[in-house]
Amino acid sequence: MSFTYFIADLHLSEDRPDITDCLKQFLATDAKKADALYVLGDLFEVWLGDDDVTPFNEDIAAAFKAQSEHCPVYFMHGNRDFAIRQTWLKKAGMTLLSEQTVVDLYGTPTLLTHGDELCTRDVAYQKFRKKSRSWWWPRLMLALPLWYRRRVARNGRAESKENQRHLRPEIMDVTPQEVINVMARFGVNQLIHGHTHRPAIHQLTVNNAPATRIVLGDWYDQGSVLVVTPDTIDLQSRSFQ
Ligand code: MN
Repeated sequence: MSFTYFIADLHLSEDRPDITDCLKQFLATDAKKADALYVLGDLFEVWLGDDDVTPFNEDIAAAFKAQSEHCPVYFMHGNRDFAIRQTWLKKAGMTLLSEQTVVDLYGTPTLLTHGDELCTRDVAYQKFRKKSRSWWWPRLMLALPLWYRRRVARNGRAESKENQRHLRPEIMDVTPQEVINVMARFGVNQLIHGHTHRPAIHQLTVNNAPATRIVLGDWYDQGSVLVVTPDTIDLQSRSFQ
């Protein structure tokens, strides 16, 4: 049977071994037989740079590398791991997709995106997003010494709840009109994204035709997995042991 898997917003971190275990279990069993596996951003809770070589990051790379022997594994940046570069992706056997990519999903042109750009009502975040995706800002950040980036990340985690709001743009949902605009611009009637942590399959109208927007869930409480076959779309979840 033909099927393709989509996952996003795993937010992997050393503090949550249960999420990592669930991912490894998924890769070691179900994912082996897939036609392809797509990781649509925010695989990691935070990414300080490919030079942050830790046993944890190496372990995750090895798990995906093993998967890539079975099927192609595609990765798209999220708002938390936009600094992942080819050095790590090569170790993980992943192919990088640009942030809005149309793929042929069993005959249906489908737009894939992390989804944060669709949340246009979060003006402050969109401002940061523009900067974070510029050519110069990541370069500037990655040029800082690793010990300094680690310290900034540690301090960031300790920040107050008020600031957490800004660190978690996913609390905002997408702007419905923006979804329609983007789908129309790409000429697609199927969209798959993550980021908002609101798993659902929405029906809408784009260019006077029925369209589908599929939203992946996160992996904070359970593993959200989208399974697409030539005939079905199934939003599933994997429980943490
Ligand atoms: Mn996100």
